[in-house]
Amino acid sequence: MRPFDFPQTTRPPQLRAAAVSVAVSLLILSLKAVAYLLTGSVAFLSDAAESVVNVVGANIAFLAVLAGTRPPDAGHPYGHGKAEYISGATEGPWWPWRGRRWWSRRSDVCCSPYP
Ligand SMILES: [Zn+2]
Repeated sequence: MRPFDFPQTTRPPQLRAAAVSVAVSLLILSLKAVAYLLTGSVAFLSDAAESVVNVVGANIAFLAVLAGTRPPDAGHPYGHGKAEYISGATEGPWWPWRGRRWWSRRSDVCCSPYP
């Protein structure tokens, strides 16, 4: 069995949920991009740019779940569940950056309105 190869019938439900999360993040990014292209609104553009972070995060979560749900093997007799912590460890440090982005965007709109 290859490292990330699951038989079709044994795919764990959390892997399907992570795949749906990736698909939904891509759909939302696409909708915001289309909204920007149709309207030219800078708000949609900045929101779409921020959605890129969500797409990257969903993909990291998918890969972490994919690795974490692999069955035990000779090298990891207790399974690979700890691999899911990689997702939290990589996404957690983004939150201060996200908060800063959110605050700067809102303060720009409040303090420097444009017609
Ligand atoms: Zn292993």
